[in-house]
Parts: sequence; structure tokens; C-alpha cells
Amino acid sequence: MPLAENCRSTRRARLSLHSLVPPMKRRVPMLTRIAKSGSLGCLLRLLSMLLLPSYSGAQQLNAGPPDPQIAAALTQVSAKRIQTTVDKLVSFPTRSTISAQDPAAIAAGRGIGAAREWIKSEFERYSRDCGGCLEVKNDTFTEAPAERIPKPIEITNVYAVLRGADPEGSKRIVLVSGHYDSRNSDPLDVSGPAPGANDDASGTAVSLECARVLSKLRFPATIVFLAVAGEEQGLNGSRHFAQMAKTAGWDIEAVLNNDIVGGDRSAQQDTGVVRVFSEGLPVNADPASIRLLRSVGGEGDSPSRQVARYLAEAGGTYNTGVKPMLVFRPDRYLRGGDHSAFNQEGFAAVRLTEFREDYNHQHQNVRTENGVEYGDLPKFVNFDYVAGVAQLNAAVLASLASAPAPPGKVRLSTRGVENDSTLSWEASDRATGYEVLWRATTSPVWEHAQSAGNATSLTLPLSKDNVIFAVRALDREGHRSLAVVPVPER
Ligand SMILES: [Zn+2]
Repeated sequence: MPLAENCRSTRRARLSLHSLVPPMKRRVPMLTRIAKSGSLGCLLRLLSMLLLPSYSGAQQLNAGPPDPQIAAALTQVSAKRIQTTVDKLVSFPTRSTISAQDPAAIAAGRGIGAAREWIKSEFERYSRDCGGCLEVKNDTFTEAPAERIPKPIEITNVYAVLRGADPEGSKRIVLVSGHYDSRNSDPLDVSGPAPGANDDASGTAVSLECARVLSKLRFPATIVFLAVAGEEQGLNGSRHFAQMAKTAGWDIEAVLNNDIVGGDRSAQQDTGVVRVFSEGLPVNADPASIRLLRSVGGEGDSPSRQVARYLAEAGGTYNTGVKPMLVFRPDRYLRGGDHSAFNQEGFAAVRLTEFREDYNHQHQNVRTENGVEYGDLPKFVNFDYVAGVAQLNAAVLASLASAPAPPGKVRLSTRGVENDSTLSWEASDRATGYEVLWRATTSPVWEHAQSAGNATSLTLPLSKDNVIFAVRALDREGHRSLAVVPVPER
């Protein structure tokens, strides 16, 4: 069955390509590849799959037109600025969470206390440049002794808030984070050099650069730019921050955690993509929710996964130097990160990490052995790559902060056995319209969208048994909210 086999392998290529870029950008190279496979029948069949929507009223999914203001802001992201930030963070010369933070050490520019004060001064500088638009804050707490914390230690997260301009919309929050603490081979070393240029001065620089660039704009919703400590000791900073946000009732829609986004200059690096890890089953889901997800095949539709899909769409809409490569698992094997602390509290959160890590350049004492260089030094960081990742982050933050709130109480009617599907939802603040999205159950990204106008329900001649639906809200300029998957309603 050579034809069928051909079709199958082309289909596989299509699925893997799906995770990188949205459909519009994909068609030409994909068709070239199919044509090269030399199978006309297969080509025609796939053409019909690609070009004919499965419902006559549908259009191919896109993330909406680029917002000229956002596109212009992305061009302000500077690799040189990012390099200056990374070099400064490396200069301390350790940012171990358990390193010095007394006034003398801070004055001498040594240890995590000095790094913290410098990050704060940077946020304050950006704020002066935008007429005081940022609220710069510390989140300080004392962590009890644990495996990597020999004695009670004060830990400080530093963050800047760009408060939303819309009274109601400002309650919605999107957040970008990196961890500014570092480590070397010994997680308990309090004074030896731990440059942490890639892990994670690069992620901290992304958070700072997004603050610098986006603070020049105003958005209806709130953006929080965060730099946490304690990641290397056990996610202490992010856990405290996430719990604080939960307790305070913050409505955080999306967390973008940037950790190891330096694009290490190894020969096998792919500088075109950054991995975006997202959890499938929400880690904090209760047994009843898990049962529901299992019964409807909802394993691939956690809120975190909708954030990942939003990144894929933003990467298609905007000219970002680096494109997202979606990875459908919470994190890499044997590794963890700050996004999981947010997931634990029920927030949608994803992790961005370079395509290929070089373990000689992470968590290592700086040294050369048998001609091999070890240590997380700035010379291994590709600052153009970090800038590309910062552009992707900024595009997502700005798009979400511009968009209306996602529709609430999204429901899919399952009252009867029928071949049509009816969805309903609650109107969301500032929305001027809604779209129902759908995709094949085997597709990683949204494939189709149908406008519902300004209505809060829509019936489509599609069987709910065959596709996965979601609803998102739009404003007049076409900014899209996150997609919300419906709950079945009897
Ligand atoms: Zn890290």
C-alpha cells in the first residue's frame, strides 16, 4: 500500500509541523514536500484536506491581524540591552539564594542581595522613563531550613506591575518570570562563582526587557514582570509568590516562565525555536475533574495548554526572532521549574527553554578539564536568540493584555444525541465578538474558527464526538483572548 503509506507519513509530517507554526505559514513548504513525495492521488487528497474547510462557513484559524503598536514594540527589544543585563547579573559573581545579602555585601556588589537591589533599580529606571508607570515591589519572606537551605533564610522576589488602564480589565493579570538566583556544582556553595548566565540570567533579562519595552505602552489588563529567587534551592520564590497570588485572589490568566533561554552556542543548537512545555492533566485537578477530563478526552486541553497554543499563534502573527516549539509535557525529564509552582496553585503556566541544553554549561563550577570548558558563562549565550525569545514573550503578554477577558462558563450541550453541536457562554468584559474554535481530536493546535458575532451561543453542523471545541473573545481591533474549552452540560 505505497499510496496509503505515503499519505500517512505526510500526515505525520503535517502533525509535527503543526506544533511549530499556524496553518497559513505552513502551506507552501508543506505542499512542496507533498509534491516531492510524487504521489498525485495523495497530493489531491491532502490538498482537499488543507484547502476545503470541514464546515462550509469556516475559515482557517489565525490569531488575528498584527496590532501595529505591538509589532512596533517588538522591534524595540534589544540584544545589546539583554547582553548588558546578563553581564551585570554575572558580575555579582554568585547569585546563590543562600549567598550574602547584608549591606556590606550589597555595597561591594557581591551575592544575591546585590543582584536583587540592581534588578529593583532597573525596574525603577524603566518606571522613571514611563512617568512612574510601574509599581516596583519586593515579595520577601523567610524560608525554613530544608535540604538545600541550611538555616532560615530571607528570600526576595522582585517584581514590577504595569497596571491595566481599564478599571475592570486591570484585575486580569498576565505574568512573565525568570529566576535571578544561580548555582554552581554545589547547591550549598555560598561564595564560589556561579555566573548563571544562561540559567537563568537569560530568563531574568527577558522579564526585564519585556518590562522596558512594554512599559512604553498602555493595556487594559495588567502585566506583572517578575524575577524570583530560590529556584535552585527548591522553587521557593515562585512557590511563595504563587501562593501569595492565590491567597490574594489574583486573576492570573497566564504565566510565561523563561528558564535557560540563552540559546547556548553549541553546534547542535536550533536558534530558530524555543521549547514551550505545558502540562496536560492539571496537577492540582481534583479526582472529579480528572474523571470528567478522562470521559471527554480532555487530557490535552488544560488551561496551560491553551497558553501554549496562544504562543504558537502569536509566533505566527508577529515577527519574533524565535518561534515556539510546543512540547506537550510539564517539563523535561528529571527537571522542574517555577511554572510548576504556579500550576500547583491552579494557574495556567508554561516553561520556555532553549531547544538544546549543554549540561557542561549549567550547574557547573567554572573550569577547564581535558580541554572541555565548564560553567555557565556569558560567552556561551547567544544574545540575539534571547532577544528573539523576549519578542515572543512580549508579543504574547501584549496581545493578552490587550484582549478582552476569556468568555466565562463555556458550555457544550449534551442534552440529546444529535449531529449538531451547540455551545454557549457568558459575555465577557470589553468583548465585541466571539469565535468558536475547533480541531480534530488528534490535532495539537486549533484548526478552525467560526465567528459567532456578538452572540453568546452558536450551533454548528459538526458532531461534538469528532472534534474538540473552544470559545474565545475578541475586541474591536481583533485582539483574541485565551481559548476556553467547554464543560459538557446536560
Ligand atoms: Zn533554571
